[in-house]
This record gives sequence, structure tokens and C-alpha cells, in this order.
Amino acid sequence: MERTTLKEPELKDLTIIGGGPTGLFAAFYAGMRGASARIIDSLPELGGQLTALYPEKYVYDVGGFPRITARELATNLIEQGLQFGPEVRLGEQVQDLTREDGHFVLTTDKGRYPSRAVIIAAGKGAFSPRVLECPGYEQLLERGVVHHVKDPAVYAGKRVLIVGGGDSAVDWALSLKDTCERLILIHRREGFRAHAHSMRQLRAAVEAGEVELLTHKEVREIHGDDCVRAVTIFDNRTNEELTFEVDAVLALIGFKPDLGPVARWGIELEKNCIKVGPTMETNIPGVYAAGDIVSHQAKLELIATGFGEAAIAVNNAIHFIDPKARVNPGHSTNLKVFKEREAAEAAAGEST
Ligand code: FAD
Repeated sequence: MERTTLKEPELKDLTIIGGGPTGLFAAFYAGMRGASARIIDSLPELGGQLTALYPEKYVYDVGGFPRITARELATNLIEQGLQFGPEVRLGEQVQDLTREDGHFVLTTDKGRYPSRAVIIAAGKGAFSPRVLECPGYEQLLERGVVHHVKDPAVYAGKRVLIVGGGDSAVDWALSLKDTCERLILIHRREGFRAHAHSMRQLRAAVEAGEVELLTHKEVREIHGDDCVRAVTIFDNRTNEELTFEVDAVLALIGFKPDLGPVARWGIELEKNCIKVGPTMETNIPGVYAAGDIVSHQAKLELIATGFGEAAIAVNNAIHFIDPKARVNPGHSTNLKVFKEREAAEAAAGEST
């Protein structure tokens, strides 16, 4: 691609949409290859699903970390991803992606960001939580009713109702059972979607009297004024109602993935995801995608695969920007950028 010579300093080689694990690793790779980069994320904090959805949970399947909390993993990714100083724009959702004068322009509600190439690492797009359709829900949202647990310590000594039958509901029941005063888990069906291992742990916790498990139950009404005080649930087979006092309702009934603006950019989609080829390029030359947002034959929605896809996307984007640049980055162990930095650090150490 012919290099544009915009004077504005904000023209970056790469703009990465999404500051989740994939976007952060892409930012690291961009810096390692000497490309200027920018990350834009609609959330107020970097880390994507790791920090927004399950910061306290342990992740076991990321190479090099036998066990690490999602928050710690995000912290490490942020340190690694920001070491080359990419521009970071938080709290800005990319609304539009257009092409102007030989480069791309990404438009958010706060600015227009020119870029030579684009990496879309937008996860599931904008998440919207599934809601409980019952009286009291809207009024008490964030006043005891929540969609995801940010700080488990808040529930210590409290009476908590968890609603849901997936991993999130079951895992949080298991995590909170030892600190809550009372923990009730209700699900509208008999069958759960949570992992078999978690279900075995849940059954054991129910037998031990640590969790009260009620199936075929749904929430009819959440009671309270400035905070949650009680809840009425009903049996969806008999319509029988039960009201009990609680301090919090965790509505962990999932999220609706919504590609949102991404779907309007003329990018070819497949099963609500972005279709990519083997170089992670979309149907628009210069626009690459990686992580949960992509669809390809071998796709697995995992952090580990997102890392690999980020590396492929960035290295090919570098070659797209400058066809003379090789796709293959070489080994980081041999790269000049790190050797120079280590030499500078060693020199600084000697002089002190
Ligand atoms: P995300 O983490 O979703 O990040 C995408 C980012 O893009 C978000 O921050 C979002 O705000 C932003 N964004 C989206 N659209 C826009 C826009 N238009 N403008 C600006 N920003 C935008 N995976 C594992 O490998 N191991 C596990 O053990 C594991 N456990 C999990 C447990 C739970 C409860 C959940 C929900 C997921 C788990 N995952 C696990 C999946 C893993 O979190 C995802 O695969 C991973 O987060 C995908 O990373 P990503 O960067 O592609 O997307």
C-alpha cells in the first residue's frame, strides 16, 4: 500500500478495535514490529471479558500459566501490550469504519482516527446482558440487582439469590458459597449448561447445605426501594409462589452478543462473526480481525487461539502497510528492539 503522508500525528499504522486479550496482544506485536498503534475500546477499562465478566475466576488454559486469575492475566497483558506506548482510547465505541485518501478512518462518538490498517478484535461486539422481565428489575438494577460480579467481597455475609443455569451462575454459586450468609441458586429448567465438573461440585455443595438449589423456578418480582430487600419466585410448572428476603440478586442469565456497528461496515459476516481467510484478513484489504469475533474453519473461542490470530493478523497487516516488510517477525529472542532495550537497562544499572 502506498504510504500516505498525513501531517496529523494521529495517523497510526494500526488501529486495534478492542482492548481484550486479543487486542492487547495485537498491540504488543505491533510495537515489537516497530509499528505505531492505537487501541480503542468502548469499556472504561482494558482487559475485555477478562476484566468485565470474570476477573476473579481462575484461567487454567493459557500457555505458561498453570493457574492465573483473569484479572492477573489482564494485568500482565496490559503490561506487555502497552510497553511500546500505543495510544489508548477508552470509553469510545467505534461507530464507523471508512476509507478516505488512501487510509482508513475510524469514527467514535469522540473523534476520528486515521489508520493505515485495522485489526478488529472486538470479541462478541457490544455485549448486552439478558434481562429479567419482572417488576422491580429495572428499578433495582445496580442497587442489589447485577448482571455480573465485579467484587465478590461485596456479598460477604449477605443473602444472595443467583439466577441462571450456565457456567457463570454455577461458578459464582461455588465461589460465593463460603462467604455468603445464604446462597440460593434458581434455574428455570432441570438441566444446566454448566461444565460437568462444576455441576459435580455444585451437587456436593447442595448436599453439604452450602447452596440451596431450586429448579423450574423463575423470578416473579424483586422487592425493595433503594436496595433489594426480597424476591418472589414461582414454579413454572405449578405457578406456586415463594417469597423470601435477600440482599442481592445476581441475574447471570447470559449476554446477547450484538455485533452492533461492526455489522454495518461492509465486512463479510458468517454466523454473526467476521469471516477471515488464513491471514486473518477480512474481505476488505487492510482490515484484519482476530479473537472471538472471527469465524474460520478451525475457530475455537479461546484466549490462546486469539493470541495466535493476533500475531498472524498483525504480521500480515505490517506486510500490507509496507510490502517490503516481511510477514515473518523472526524470534523475539533475537530481535534488535529487545536487545537494545536490555543493553540500555544494563548501562543504566551500571551507572547507578
Ligand atoms: P473480548 O475479551 O470480548 O474483548 C473485546 C473488546 O472489544 C471488549 O472490551 C469490547 O468492549 C470491545 N469492543 C467491541 N466492540 C467495540 C467497538 N465497536 N468499539 C470499541 N470497542 C469495542 N477463554 C479461555 O481461553 N479460557 C477460559 O478459561 C475462559 N473462561 C471464560 C469464562 C467466562 C465466564 C467467559 C465469559 C469467557 C471465558 N473465556 C475463556 C473466553 C475468553 O474470555 C474469550 O475467548 C476472550 O476474552 C476473547 O478475547 P477477545 O479479545 O477476542 O474479545
